[in-house]
Amino acid sequence: MNIILFGPPGAGKGTQAKILIKTHDIVQISTGDMLREEVNSGSNLGKTAKSIMDSGGLVSDEIIMSIIEERISKPDCQNGFILDGFPRTLNQAIALDNVLANKKIQIDHIIQIDVDEKLLFERIKQRAEEGDFVRNDDNKDVLIKRITVYQKDTMPVLEYYRSLKRLKTVDGMQSIENVSSNIKKMFQLL
Ligand code: AMP
Repeated sequence: MNIILFGPPGAGKGTQAKILIKTHDIVQISTGDMLREEVNSGSNLGKTAKSIMDSGGLVSDEIIMSIIEERISKPDCQNGFILDGFPRTLNQAIALDNVLANKKIQIDHIIQIDVDEKLLFERIKQRAEEGDFVRNDDNKDVLIKRITVYQKDTMPVLEYYRSLKRLKTVDGMQSIENVSSNIKKMFQLL
């Protein structure tokens, strides 16, 4: 089973993905995690990505598509994968359609975790204040930029999938357990 999970920063995509990989024996493909690994390894790609990520902007579609294409070709993806944080632009969504068509892979479920952005902002602020590990991109100004970028660049991707009647939406303002069980119910819907 192949899934795309959508949601603005802090909506709980990563948390839900972690639950699904256990229950469905599939792998999580987080472009954000892959980029952070590149940054930590000190690679050229990581160097290019770091300042963009720290500012809350988007890394180029070209870089993202090259890491995605390589990742979904790996054998551990054969049982299924969850795309977490990708596609984030319309260009990425269209490029993904082409990659998948070439590889004869289908996406079974495209799920939006819908959240109240004001409440979400409070959640992340708390995470930034309380967490002993704070991401560089968790501060207030960067968060505002990330949410703005989400609205400008990523909402059109949701509209794209909605227009194809492929988008399913779950209420992300509930408990982690409820969101997770609602996502699983979505799997039963066509
Ligand atoms: P995330 O952990 O998914 O919030 O990603 C952290 C940062 O990595 C984002 O703010 C972007 O700078 C970058 N990033 C992750 N995924 C993508 C993507 N699909 N397209 C462009 N930039 C991305």
